Amino acid sequence: MAEIGANGMPQFDLRVGSRSAQGARSNNEDNFVVDLRQRLFVVADGMGGQDRGEIASSMAVEIIPRVVHAHLAVNESPEEALLGALLEANESIVEAGRSQPEGRRMGTTAVVALQHNGQVYVSNLGDSRAYLIRGADVHQLTVDHSVAQALVSTGALSPEEARYSPYQHVLHKFLGCVDLASAAEVYPFTPQNGDRLLLATDGMTNHISDEDLRTGPKLFPDPQVWIEHLVQKALDHGSRDNVTGVIIAFDET
Ligand code: CA
Repeated sequence: MAEIGANGMPQFDLRVGSRSAQGARSNNEDNFVVDLRQRLFVVADGMGGQDRGEIASSMAVEIIPRVVHAHLAVNESPEEALLGALLEANESIVEAGRSQPEGRRMGTTAVVALQHNGQVYVSNLGDSRAYLIRGADVHQLTVDHSVAQALVSTGALSPEEARYSPYQHVLHKFLGCVDLASAAEVYPFTPQNGDRLLLATDGMTNHISDEDLRTGPKLFPDPQVWIEHLVQKALDHGSRDNVTGVIIAFDET
């Protein structure tokens, strides 16, 4: 029987698994943060020459938790806190990129999840993804901000064509974007007992299937064991990229 918290919502005992692998690359531009104190999780995939991508993704995982905390401390809504943190991270990364020579701009994706008062709020910029695995259902919560995905939404490309499009990894929204045309979307959900939430970079999502996600919670109840398995699977399937994921397991106390 679940305990009921002060706000009438079930209390979840969060267990988290996390792993980032450099893989075949000469450096690891992915970063993540697991902030259990405010139940906030971020995965970021940096882009840019030399060490710029690493710097951008490390800025994202430092700025977002700090700014979310500041916004929630003055009673702003979780949506406002997440969007405010993404905007502030964007401005800081754009500013840091200005000192770089022309053509060496830096940027990063970010996918963020925050549990607050019995709801989970997910947001993203770029093509790192959030998946909710609930029973036999696998839901991709986020929409990639890639040019290929935008062409799918206008009907110009089929989802299958998009997978092989040269525009699959060309992003039109990310952190470090000078003309961030519109804010990110926030996708809320009410967690249920047994839910698993995966945040992952494209180095993982390009190399695992919905079937891997559907069968994982039963095969690997411990989220740390599962994430290590998924990272290894992506590498074994030929991922040449950095591979990073965080799994949050919602189990009623
Ligand atoms: Ca990547």
